[in-house]
Amino acid sequence: MNQMEKLAIHGGKPVRNSLLSYGSQWVTEEDIAAVVETMRSPFLTQGPQIIEFERKVADKSGAKYAVAFCNGTAALHGAMFAAGIGEGDEVITSPLTFAATSNSVLYQGGIPVFADIDPHTYLLDVEAARNVITPHTKAIVPVDFSGQPVNMQAFRALADEHGLVYIQDAAHSLGASYDGKPVGSIADMTMFSFHPVKPVTTAEGGVIVTNNEEYYEKLLRFRSHGITKDNRWMEGKSEGSWYYQMIELGYNYRLTDIQAALGVTQMERLMEFLSRRNEIARQYDEAFAGLERDGLLRRPVVDVKAVSGWHLYVISLGLENLKTGRREVFEALQAENLGVNVHYIPVYWHPYYKKLGYERGICPRAEQAYETFVTIPLFPRMSDEDVQDVIAAVEKVVTFFAKA
Ligand SMILES: *Cc1c(COP(=O)(O)O)cnc(C)c1O
Repeated sequence: MNQMEKLAIHGGKPVRNSLLSYGSQWVTEEDIAAVVETMRSPFLTQGPQIIEFERKVADKSGAKYAVAFCNGTAALHGAMFAAGIGEGDEVITSPLTFAATSNSVLYQGGIPVFADIDPHTYLLDVEAARNVITPHTKAIVPVDFSGQPVNMQAFRALADEHGLVYIQDAAHSLGASYDGKPVGSIADMTMFSFHPVKPVTTAEGGVIVTNNEEYYEKLLRFRSHGITKDNRWMEGKSEGSWYYQMIELGYNYRLTDIQAALGVTQMERLMEFLSRRNEIARQYDEAFAGLERDGLLRRPVVDVKAVSGWHLYVISLGLENLKTGRREVFEALQAENLGVNVHYIPVYWHPYYKKLGYERGICPRAEQAYETFVTIPLFPRMSDEDVQDVIAAVEKVVTFFAKA
């Protein structure tokens, strides 16, 4: 590599001519045909495609039941409802997540409690979570940040010990596993997101998987206004086949059959997607070993028992060995036409959370990690050339800013 190469941000030639986004869907003609076929069918909203999509997600995650929602956020809201989260109930989660995780607690009047991360894996630290448990704690929601699953057996044990509902935010980790167990098979409820950047897509979509029949029935009602036609839940007797009752305050959180049709064909390619993501991550790991040895960046660390879904490849800059800050490195990578990103701003730093009384400093490891993070492009449709461009741009920029 030519270290004298002029950075694009300084007027040099960018490594790439066109922007490579950090994540993107992969939709084929087969996906499109399945969607079109559903549009010609009698079902546009919930129909047979929803049932099949739910079956596929449940099977893949080793769970008995799956309930599809219009997005992952609505699905998390449903999980909080099913878990019985209400006014004043505390729910422990990670600050290194998308705001939707803790927002879903707020929707139910609950109180998100942020516990710090493990500085190596960036996942919610089991002991940090244990330390913030109080008599008001009702649930715990670890997040499979970047596609790496949390130690599900450890969180299961912690939840059981304290009588908590264990909900897993697996928006990044469909198809991943920990200690041989698929994500979705251990928590009381597990949420998958089907947003276009996520492991597979339905444009917008979310699913909760569970092995608990009571949660399953509650989730089904919650996504459709809290309405039931089932005699087991109704007050008094049914007045006829038209009859239904609204027994809880639910929402209209339904996914369409059109989207579920896309989900069905996408699910068939999940393993192909995951293996390509894994292959790209291996190439990055190999390429960046030298930069890590020089203290210029740190590569992501995956627990030996974890099989990651590699949703994101997050590098941590060795700022002490660079002569500039994260911002300039980020902007220099952007100028090379890498669609870099930062995941995530600690949730409680957002003004809304600040107004609720959360202060900076409550999770120092997460805050420190955030300051060094840059997410580089990683998605299955990337060509080998795209991968080489990312490697070249990271090397070019990071070595340029290395202290002598
Ligand atoms: C994407 C995401 C969500 C929300 O999912 P949507 O389908 O976008 O509503 C929640 N948590 C995490 C960690 C996510 O990345």
